[in-house]
Order: sequence, then C-alpha cells, then structure tokens
Amino acid sequence: METLDTWQWQMTNRISNISSLRKYVDISDQEALEITAAETRFRWTITPYYASLMDKHDPHCPIRMQAIPSILELQNNSGMQDPLQEESQSPTPGLIHRYPDRVAFTVSSECAMYCRHCTRKRFVGQPVQRTTWQAIEAGIEYVRKTESIRDVLVTGGDPFILSDDKLERIIKALRSIDHVEIIRLGTRTPCTLPQRITDKLCDMLAKYHPIWVNTHFNHPKELTEEAAKAADRMLRAGIPVGNQSVLLKGINDDRDTMKSLLHGLLKMRIRPYYLYQCDRIVGTEHFWTPLTTGLDLIDQLQGYTTGFAVPQFIVDSPIGKIPLCRSKLVELNDDYAILRNYENHTMTIPCRVDKEPALLAI
Ligand SMILES: *Cc1c(COP(=O)(O)O)cnc(C)c1O
Ligand code: SF4
Repeated sequence: METLDTWQWQMTNRISNISSLRKYVDISDQEALEITAAETRFRWTITPYYASLMDKHDPHCPIRMQAIPSILELQNNSGMQDPLQEESQSPTPGLIHRYPDRVAFTVSSECAMYCRHCTRKRFVGQPVQRTTWQAIEAGIEYVRKTESIRDVLVTGGDPFILSDDKLERIIKALRSIDHVEIIRLGTRTPCTLPQRITDKLCDMLAKYHPIWVNTHFNHPKELTEEAAKAADRMLRAGIPVGNQSVLLKGINDDRDTMKSLLHGLLKMRIRPYYLYQCDRIVGTEHFWTPLTTGLDLIDQLQGYTTGFAVPQFIVDSPIGKIPLCRSKLVELNDDYAILRNYENHTMTIPCRVDKEPALLAI
C-alpha cells in the first residue's frame, strides 16, 4: 500500500460510481437512486483517501455530506449560477479582476474531489468548460500588461491537479513579471489529496518565493496525520499556509465543531483566514445558514480563544469580500468611545488627541 499511495494512484483510483462507494460506506437503495438522479446534473468523484475518512453507517457524516451527491442539489429555488458575477469581471477567460491590485486566476477546472458546496459549481468538474492553455496564456499576458496587479491568486478548480511541470510553467511566467509581488495558490489537496504535497512540489514552489498557500478544511475529521504532514512539508519550504472554510449547515455551523477545527488547524500551524458565508449557488441551498449563524459563531470565538484562531467571517459579492462581525463600538463621538468586550462588559475610552487624554482608573 505504501508504494501505491501516491497522488497519481489516488487520482486514478477515484470513486465515482455507487458500487465502488459501497466499499467505503453503506448506501441504501433509496440513496443510490438519489445519487443517480443528482449526478446527471453535477459531477462527483472522491479520492480513496477522502472516502476512507467517511463514517460507514452515518449518512450525516460531515465527510460524506461534502462529497456524496444529494438529491437536495436538484432543489434550486433561489440559487444562481454565478452570483459573484465572476464571468462579467473576467477580462480573459478564467481571470477575475475585481480589485485594482490583485486577481483570481482560475488555471484548472478540475479538482481531486468535487465538493458538493463548491462556489464554482458552474464550471468546476464540467468537462465542457475545461481551462485551456490558450486561456492561461491570455491570463498571464493580461497580468503582464496590467501594472496595478501586485498579487495573483492562482486558483481553480484546483491548481495542484496540474502536473508539477505545468504548474511550474505558470508560476515561472508570473514570477518573471516585475510588478507581481506575491503569488498565492488556493488548493484543497492538503485536505482531499494530501499525497499531492510532495517534497518535489514544495521544492519547485520554493524557487518562486514569496509563495503563499491557502487551503480549505471544513471539519476537524479532515485534520489527519497525512494532512498535517502535507502542511508541514509546505511550511518547511517556507510557504505560509492559511485556511478558508465555508460555513455549512449540519457540518460546521456549531461552536464546538468550529472551535475544534480552528484549534486543530493551529496545532498543524495552519492559520485560519476566512470563514465564508455559503454562496447562493444553484445546487447548494441545503448548506445555507442564516447570516446570524456566522455572526453568532464569531461572537462565541472572539475573546474565548487565541486571537488568530478566529477567521474573518466573509460574505463574498460582486463588489468584493465583505468581512462581518457585530460591532464592538457602542458609541463614538469626538470626546470618547464606548466599547464592548467579548463578555458584553463595556468601557469608555477617551479619544481626543488634541489635548492630554485623561487617565482611566483601572
Ligand atoms: C477572493 C478574491 C481575491 C483575494 O481576496 P483577498 O481578500 O485579498 O484574499 C481576489 N480576487 C477575487 C476575484 C477574489 O474572489
Ligand atoms: S476543491 Fe474548491 S474548487 Fe474544487 S470542488 Fe472543492 S470547493 Fe470547488
């Protein structure tokens, strides 16, 4: 098993039919019918590694819910294909230019596993819309001639699905552009295919520093020894590793699960970055939570745990990502501000700077 357990082996042995899936989990005949109905609309495939984390008997297992199609995906009453208007903000196919100084560059429409909650469900895993080399070259050219771009977020799909050579061609080209200061890579492989994070890949990436990686863990069950090793390899290559999670109903929308995810990430030296409100994408409605769920979670974390364990809660939109939290500012005027702490205690601080601030009694 040891020698077989390469990322290539994982990729060629992915599970994408019910009979293979039944080697990992119990699937009732009703569920099998539902999967068959849902897969006509949205592709699914699961790495043997990720499937091995599934609970055999529990259909509500958080790993199963992220990976196995549900009939609920066909109930799309208010979801949209592209609520973030990425298509209309793309000067070249797959390159999204929303902020003046940075772009998101989708270089692959494939992933190791197709997450049921994927925000780019409209093209990820859909074979008709494969990212072409022509599109990638056009994107690189656009970055080259647009001098305001100092930060390129290489994403997808999953860029780590590309071979080391292809990925290196893209990164090398971006690195040769003077105004590109940092290159970020967004990949879920540390979670769904940790075997992908080889020493060879990390050595290649380290040639093009500053490189940053953001990954995507949603549940503490995903924080395995293999995942920790993958993170460690990147960190040793000098690559800071951050995490973005999606807030998903029934998976991570309660304080204890979220806390144990965040604490587990810190133990792996992965820094929590964003917690996304689930985008209103067609086929993801069963994962949506009210805005108050995320706000409550942040209230239950901030102050109660390590400051940098707490991600920013983000609502993404066509006008950019908007971080949300309930205000700690009770009142503000020219003379003083009233502030609220995590336990709801308030204090008043002076805030004039043109005269000596009065010292507060502590
Ligand atoms: C998320 C995103 C970025 C990066 O945003 P940060 O807040 O800097 O991480 C850039 N461009 C687009 C289109 C994005 O969606
Ligand atoms: S890894 Fe990311 S892009 Fe790929 S299916 Fe999952 S959420 Fe979508």
